[in-house]
Amino acid sequence: MKLDTSPIAAIATASGRGGIGVVRASGKELGALIAALFPGATLAPRHATYIPFKAANGDIIDEGLALYFPGPHSYTGEDVLELQGHGGPIVLQMLLGRVLEAGISMDLRLAEPGEFTRRAFLNDKLDLAQAEAVADLIDASTEAAAKSASQSLSGAFSQVVHTLVDQTTNLRMLVEATLDFPEEEIDFLEKSNARGQLAGIITALEHVFRQAAQGALLREGLNVVLVGQPNVGKSSLLNALAGADVAIVTPIAGTTRDKVSETIQIEGIPLNIIDTAGIRAISDEIDVVERIGIERTWGEVGKADVILHLLDANLGPSAADEAIVAAFPANVPVVRIWNKIDLSGHKPSKDESTDAVHLYLSAHEKLGIDLLRAELLRIAGWQQTGESLFLARERHLIALRAASDHLELARQHAMQDDQSLDLFAEELRLAQDQLSSITGQFTPDDLLGVIFGRFCIGK
Ligand code: GDP
Ligand code: ZN
Repeated sequence: MKLDTSPIAAIATASGRGGIGVVRASGKELGALIAALFPGATLAPRHATYIPFKAANGDIIDEGLALYFPGPHSYTGEDVLELQGHGGPIVLQMLLGRVLEAGISMDLRLAEPGEFTRRAFLNDKLDLAQAEAVADLIDASTEAAAKSASQSLSGAFSQVVHTLVDQTTNLRMLVEATLDFPEEEIDFLEKSNARGQLAGIITALEHVFRQAAQGALLREGLNVVLVGQPNVGKSSLLNALAGADVAIVTPIAGTTRDKVSETIQIEGIPLNIIDTAGIRAISDEIDVVERIGIERTWGEVGKADVILHLLDANLGPSAADEAIVAAFPANVPVVRIWNKIDLSGHKPSKDESTDAVHLYLSAHEKLGIDLLRAELLRIAGWQQTGESLFLARERHLIALRAASDHLELARQHAMQDDQSLDLFAEELRLAQDQLSSITGQFTPDDLLGVIFGRFCIGK
């Protein structure tokens, strides 16, 4: 991502057709651009002005609303101009082209992905966690995810992280002050209740971590793969979970040749479910297309958070099933689902054995599907606590975890008889750096490039 501060412009609305579309420009000084686009007109700050958008030769491209937000009271903290026109891809391209042309003398250029939000971050309009929440709110796939994203966007997550940083800093300053008076070190921990303070920070951090980890679930969801012999009912189970006919169900073995992926939600958690081609031993009677499907299946299994292994409750495991089970990755939890209990006479139920959880259900008759939903939530680690969640990213969880590790080391230094206070202070400093990286106070430039580079253009 370029770091130059020349003015930028981009189409800010989704590609495709829509009632309206917005071209947005941002720069330190957009007065000249406005004068070039709308000669003789004045745009009252933060007011909508209905105005024709004209090409350089005077031809009308579109008519719409022009909105001018003088910096610093704007999204980016710079001057921002928004042109709301009709939302067709061609007309918006023409409008963007006109804006770029009108700004040519001021080096106006096309914005990079995420550059508007990056400028907002650099101009202190948002911190890093909030900037990430902008993208997460836009990308949210469920209502619960959107709610947690706006919670982070409002700064609630940043706020609790800041509090942890402050508490850690205060404790560290206390320790460092004591380091200057070695003869008093011994009494330090007692007098200041440093251990108690540290324990308080550790507890608070654990709480934030839980809120963030639950929120991360809403963001990432769970990757579920359905495997099993042809005809055991994988497509039927996917339909039962999704509540719609998303996969082809036929009584002919090997119908599902390609993977069918469907995102459904259970209590707001997106589940990305992949119905796989039935795994079979590769033999001469299997054509090339099916062979490719089978190989792809194992690829999906390797990436799964949970494997749903379907079996026919009337038949029991076959030799082919034993072979599948033997090939499962050891670290992925498996739910063994015995389907078609309407024929076998089993009751819908759950049974835990040492190797896996066993569920008895009928995909076709929709018996025991609720047991499966509950089991998926349990595996996801979902706890309904009712408290607000932060739509955290993996990056945030890693930083929180690392901060927690440093605080734990600090605690150990404080426990020792010869109380190594300098090491104690050093661990506090490392914990503080980790926490600060979440809100972007100490975030290297290359990481910023990665974070904002994942935005779409126009954000
Ligand atoms: P897949 O090849 O594993 O995807 O299996 P399908 O979902 O295509 O199902 C194969 C056949 O089994 C279809 O005729 C389904 O209607 C039938 N089937 C699936 N689930 C059940 C069930 O719970 N009970 C009964 N009786 N039939 C089922
Ligand atoms: Zn199928």
